[in-house]
Amino acid sequence: MTAHLIDGKSFAATLRDRITAEVAALADRGITPGLAVVLVGEDPASQVYVRSKGRQTREVGMNSYEHRLPAETTEADLLALIARLNTDPAVNGILVQLPLPGHMNEAAIINAIDPAKDVDGFHILNAGRLATGQKAMVPCTPLGCLMLLRDRLGSLSGRHAVVIGRSNIVGKPMAQLLLRDSATVTIAHSRTRDLPVLCRQADILIAAVGRPHFIKGDWIKPGATIIDVGINRSDDGLVGDVDFAAARNVAAAITPVPGGVGPMTIACLLANTLTATARANGLPDPEGLTP
Ligand code: NAD
Repeated sequence: MTAHLIDGKSFAATLRDRITAEVAALADRGITPGLAVVLVGEDPASQVYVRSKGRQTREVGMNSYEHRLPAETTEADLLALIARLNTDPAVNGILVQLPLPGHMNEAAIINAIDPAKDVDGFHILNAGRLATGQKAMVPCTPLGCLMLLRDRLGSLSGRHAVVIGRSNIVGKPMAQLLLRDSATVTIAHSRTRDLPVLCRQADILIAAVGRPHFIKGDWIKPGATIIDVGINRSDDGLVGDVDFAAARNVAAAITPVPGGVGPMTIACLLANTLTATARANGLPDPEGLTP
């Protein structure tokens, strides 16, 4: 079997077209969504992410506000900026690029963002709402994975999903979303025993570990759907957490790296900004952009 390639790049492009059309419809009502991105310090990977977020935000017709602060910015100064953005009516979404410099308390910073503008979905209230089945802002990467899975499989009900990784950014919210769609969910992590045996039981395997080619071809159940969240720099360029060449011969469908989950993350950030704007203006949630 050669697995179907789940084309996240093209799915994300279609999603952005749809968002562009919705932004144009909002413009007729005099509303322009605004996304503020805050970058503290000079981390090169973060600079690349922030640049592409700004570009894609403008491309769909939203306003992008970039705040670049020096690495030695105090927590008090960052909190003061967030307080200003929280009350700025032109700003519908606020994203503080992680990681923050070591002297800052990441949780305190994230929890200072107005949950209604928390388009990354990392605020404790949004995490709690997601876990309790209430309307939330949902973290972008797992939201993108969910969209790809639903598009590929339709209903996820009763399928066994194994999520490898328990981070607050990917693994945990991914598991919550799958549970919400009535999948049977197992979360594996660095202390899990017999990981290959567990993986072989997965109808849906989500890899969010951060180790190149960690998941081997013979760990995969024939016919499984594989979502590879990992982005690892190697001598072969960017590679995922899954041994793609081997997995392709066993799985029914798999996301490539690059071109799979990666492009979905920023597209979902724009989707969340659109949703936040609709909610701020008392409009219904745009269809299909929220779980
Ligand atoms: P993280 O380092 O916070 O979490 C990694 C998880 O992997 C941990 O929960 C850990 O328990 C688990 N793990 C580590 N070693 C393991 C082992 N031997 N067996 C089983 N589990 C193990 O990372 P993260 O932020 O969740 O990101 C994971 C990967 O996804 C990284 O490669 C990151 O670059 C990538 N990522 C991609 C996107 C995207 O847009 N595609 C977004 C976020 C993260």
